[in-house]
Amino acid sequence: MKYWLYLVAKLAVVLGVAWGLQACLQHLYPTPEPPLARFGPPPPLFLHDMLFTFCVMAIWLFTSGLIYLAYWDQRRRCRSCLRQLIMPLKRGSWGHMVLIGRPTTQMICPFGHGTLSIEELQITGRQYPDWHRHDDNIWKELESYGRAGK
Ligand SMILES: [Zn+2]
Repeated sequence: MKYWLYLVAKLAVVLGVAWGLQACLQHLYPTPEPPLARFGPPPPLFLHDMLFTFCVMAIWLFTSGLIYLAYWDQRRRCRSCLRQLIMPLKRGSWGHMVLIGRPTTQMICPFGHGTLSIEELQITGRQYPDWHRHDDNIWKELESYGRAGK
C-alpha cells in the first residue's frame, strides 16, 4: 500500500508542477490587442496564438517526461521500504540462452526485503518485472546453508 501511495504522491507533485507552469504561462503571457470589430468574447489563446500554443505543448511534453521519470523511478524501488534497489546482477546469456537461461537483470533491496527480476528478452509480449518477497529474517537462509554443510 505504501508503494502505491508513494507513486500517487509523486504523480500529484508532477501534476502540481504542470498546473503551476500552466498558471504562470497564462499569467505572464501578454494578452493581445482586441480587434476593432469585435463580435462576442475574444477567442482563447490556445490554438489561436501560435507561440502560446507551442508553450502549452512544451509544458505538457515536459510533464509527460516527468511522469515517465516518476514511473521509471518507481519500478526500481523496494515494495516494502521504498528504497532504491541496488546491486544489479546480470543473469543468463544472449548467446547461450538454451543452456544458461534467458537474460535477466536482478536487483535486491539493501535491507533484504525482496528481489526484482527484469526480463531483458521480450519475445512473447511484454514481460513485467517480477518481485520476489524475501522472508523477514534474511539470515535464516544463510544459516540453513551452514547447517547443511556440517
Ligand atoms: Zn526494502
